[in-house]
Amino acid sequence: MVKTCATVWDSCLRTIRRNVNTQSFKTWFEPIRPVRLEQNALTIQVPNKFFYEWLEEHYVALLKMTIRQELGEKGRLEYQILMGPNREQDQSSKISVKKDMNIPGAVDTGSIKNPFVIPGIKKVTIDPQLNPSYTFENFIEGDCNRLARSAGLAVAGKPGGTAFNPLVIFGDVGLGKTHLAQAIGNEALISDPGKTVLYVSSEKFTNQIIESIRNNAVNDFVNFYQLVDVLIVDDIQFLANKIKTQEIFFHIFNQLHQNGKQLVLTSDRPPKDLDGMEERLISRFKWGLSADLQAPDLETRMAILETKMNQEGLDLPYDVTEFICYNIKNNIRELEGVLISLVAQSMLNRREIDIELAKEVIKNFVKQMSKEITVEFIQKLVAEHFDLPVDKLKGQTRKRSIVIARQLSMYLAKNLTNKSLKAIGENFGGRDHSTVIYSCKAVQDLLDTDMIFKDTVSDLEKKIKMSLNEK
Ligand code: ADP
Ligand code: MG
Repeated sequence: MVKTCATVWDSCLRTIRRNVNTQSFKTWFEPIRPVRLEQNALTIQVPNKFFYEWLEEHYVALLKMTIRQELGEKGRLEYQILMGPNREQDQSSKISVKKDMNIPGAVDTGSIKNPFVIPGIKKVTIDPQLNPSYTFENFIEGDCNRLARSAGLAVAGKPGGTAFNPLVIFGDVGLGKTHLAQAIGNEALISDPGKTVLYVSSEKFTNQIIESIRNNAVNDFVNFYQLVDVLIVDDIQFLANKIKTQEIFFHIFNQLHQNGKQLVLTSDRPPKDLDGMEERLISRFKWGLSADLQAPDLETRMAILETKMNQEGLDLPYDVTEFICYNIKNNIRELEGVLISLVAQSMLNRREIDIELAKEVIKNFVKQMSKEITVEFIQKLVAEHFDLPVDKLKGQTRKRSIVIARQLSMYLAKNLTNKSLKAIGENFGGRDHSTVIYSCKAVQDLLDTDMIFKDTVSDLEKKIKMSLNEK
């Protein structure tokens, strides 16, 4: 049978379907169109650049395997990106990305002496391994990241010349550690293109060490790292329990630090909690500054999402953006994932992007959601809003501010759930239904007289209705 791009891609899809879950398959693979097959290269069309990056980040190994299976060892995949906010098949707006099937970032370690040297260049030039799209400019500032961001800027402007050495950036997954660390590298090169910057993941670093040990070239390896002015090591928690790697890293760290070179490290937890890490390393990590990245607040999430949309040339209705940001709170990567998934779903099913579609998409991202508004959920949001522990709402305190919060929670529970007055009262430390009626009346009186209170209540109401009530 003659292979065409359609038949090859069909076979690929069969393999892929077996290896990813249904939702991912629908979101990321169904929208792909095979375009052509030339020799060993299959070209596929994806809706936008973000889509392409997502595939590369999450599915490169699978795609590689599948393509090899269909087209043999020399098989290659090329992407054609359909760009722009207007999703018409405008030929002129297509750009092509050629991609051989090497896993991105995997460096050809032909010469172990200089694991990052660009081949064919005589003078020793080290490829910084940076992604130029991670900049300070598009790293949105918020309360959640102010310290880390400004320390990063300071370090980038004066590598090795600040008190922040090493700079340790820590925080949960998806909160921007890699972005910020890379932005420091990019900015350092803009400030001084003569500087040698190197970004390396802890995994790659470990692999290089293993290889250098195998080749009896540990000294060369250590010496190579001495050429670097700004060394960025991402996700150092992966060095845990790797004794030999830690020993060599300790060595490199000391020499660089002594010579006034900058170290930037990222970790998913504060240095003191790095189990399986040698004490002497941990104590060095504490020499400089450890700055954390927290989950962003709503305004920051909105700003981040809007920046992403601008970058990608996407445009979403305001209420949809707001809805997404209300619901995805703890992971910016997820926030972007929802955006892309939403765009993909809308293209795939030719549906308008609205709150309904957003709800469907978000349900796949947030575990265990229920659409039902519960009294507990209202209590949680009200308590958060007034900065009180939830217990106080159920307790007996007569302090005015607490009484108002308590009454307001009952009022919202009555209006937004279909619980009986009795059931609501029980949720508030076993109060009876007449207390709930009294509370609702008190809140109504306040609403009629106090404009500020009225605004607060309508904000809260909106927030409760908007949230998909994570359990
Ligand atoms: P981590 O390394 O902490 O897991 P990443 O650096 O990979 O997280 O960030 C996940 C995604 O969120 C990236 O696409 C990044 O660009 C984006 N991101 C994180 N923080 C911000 C921010 N403050 N402004 C803009 N984008 C951000
Ligand atoms: Mg990261």
